[in-house]
Amino acid sequence: MESPEDRAAEAFRKLFRSNPDVVVQAPGRVNLIGGHTDYNEGFVLPMAIDRRTAIAARPRSDSIVLLSSGGFPDTAFDLKSFARETGWAEYAKGVAWAMGPESLSGWEGVVTSSIPLGASLSSSAALELATALVFTTLSEREWDPVLAARTAHQAEVGWVGVNSGIMDQLISACGHAGHVTLLDCRDMTQTSLSMPDDVRVVVLDTGTRRELTTSDYNERRRECEEAARGFGIGSLRDLSMGDLDNPPSEMREVVLNRARHIVEENQRTLDAAQAVADRDSERLGRLIAQSHVSLRDRFSVSSNALDAMVEAAMASPGCLGARMTGAGFAGCAIALVEQDNVASFVRETESRYRVTSHGEPTIFPCAPADGASVRTRR
Ligand code: ADP
Ligand code: MG
Repeated sequence: MESPEDRAAEAFRKLFRSNPDVVVQAPGRVNLIGGHTDYNEGFVLPMAIDRRTAIAARPRSDSIVLLSSGGFPDTAFDLKSFARETGWAEYAKGVAWAMGPESLSGWEGVVTSSIPLGASLSSSAALELATALVFTTLSEREWDPVLAARTAHQAEVGWVGVNSGIMDQLISACGHAGHVTLLDCRDMTQTSLSMPDDVRVVVLDTGTRRELTTSDYNERRRECEEAARGFGIGSLRDLSMGDLDNPPSEMREVVLNRARHIVEENQRTLDAAQAVADRDSERLGRLIAQSHVSLRDRFSVSSNALDAMVEAAMASPGCLGARMTGAGFAGCAIALVEQDNVASFVRETESRYRVTSHGEPTIFPCAPADGASVRTRR
């Protein structure tokens, strides 16, 4: 398969009849463990993956940003005055808004991606980071990955209106090939850990889709805030296992269950990081499997399709653990699979999942990749 960078450059040449000045890329991600802990100031264990979004671009002499992405309507906006609309260009506009549009200059470019969109592999963060990198490169500014992640996150929350945590942007900006990152979402401390090479992470796309802007996600956030308030703390990060044994009497059972998931998931994520460091893939797999059960039963963010996929994966050869990834409700799960069994794992999981026919599955191994980077510059 041709790389997204090559496809972007080729599409650029077709559209603009010249070579691009710059080609950048930003990867999607999977989160091995740490479900819904990010906005509770907790821990997550994501890795950037070898599925990515590329933009081929050249500067313009005016303040117009002109964007084209296959399958989407071409769009343009003026950095001097732009308004909130709907559509895919809002991600790019949001980045310009968060970077300070008065200091930026216009460009035109083509976007391509090998990340399935809306599948919880964070194509939105990849698009934001790639856009930020084009702006930064063409205005000859220095690229600071953590700052770029904050800016892209601001774009998604403040402009697009998705109230998500910062994990997606941070790992798309800062990922390391061959490594997963333990991220402390309270103080943004990153610990890079090399992945054991006897296992692969396999992406399990259920083929089902759901808009993230819908109510369930925001409802979970509210329930977590309610739980923290009930315990008299600012964030569930500060709740201990012991506290859970003595909940306030008026606390709703459902809210207590949300809190229990977050507290235990934080511990599981720290344990999983230790398992990676110890090269204990079996333990890592067990923790991943426990995470799914908790997200399903205590946090209620799975779906029939995700459950069916995880069940299909767990019954297939070489599977050490599987769970939904991202916000849930639809999209992708992941599995940790013994390297030697990947081919038969993919075959069997696919045919098992098909029997349940929740959607058309797409299953592929992925590898931990580097964060956003400039690929060509002339
Ligand atoms: P996810 O981030 O899990 O893929 P989101 O709903 O957050 O799902 O983001 C998907 C949206 O991001 C798409 O509907 C589209 O608006 C935008 N997007 C992402 N990548 C691209 C792309 N390559 N071209 C056009 N739009 C894109
Ligand atoms: Mg997204």
